Amino acid sequence: MSLKGRDPSDIESNSQPEPRRLFLHEPGWQVGLKVGSIRENCYQMAPGQEYYHRLSDGEIYIARADEKLCLACAARRGLLSSEAKSLREAIASFEYVAHLDSNPDIELGPAPTD
Ligand SMILES: [Zn+2]
Repeated sequence: MSLKGRDPSDIESNSQPEPRRLFLHEPGWQVGLKVGSIRENCYQMAPGQEYYHRLSDGEIYIARADEKLCLACAARRGLLSSEAKSLREAIASFEYVAHLDSNPDIELGPAPTD
């Protein structure tokens, strides 16, 4: 039963989006947490709205200089990604280091337990 819950088709029929990791590749942004009731607005209007919506207490946002964006607007602007962009470079540099070490026993994978 618990294995069935991991079936991807189950997740699709559930209409709940699968939790995923988020990445922001544009330099200069910082992640902030809106705390308290001081009024702060998202820097961007949402589609169909003609006002700058407020950031809510407890909301996670990203900021660069004076610009604050809620995650919904950041995603609309294409700032957020579910892909780790530097993954390929990281693997390449790791392989390079492994080559320099010239140890044929190096394996990518879990470390041996003994
Ligand atoms: Zn927003």
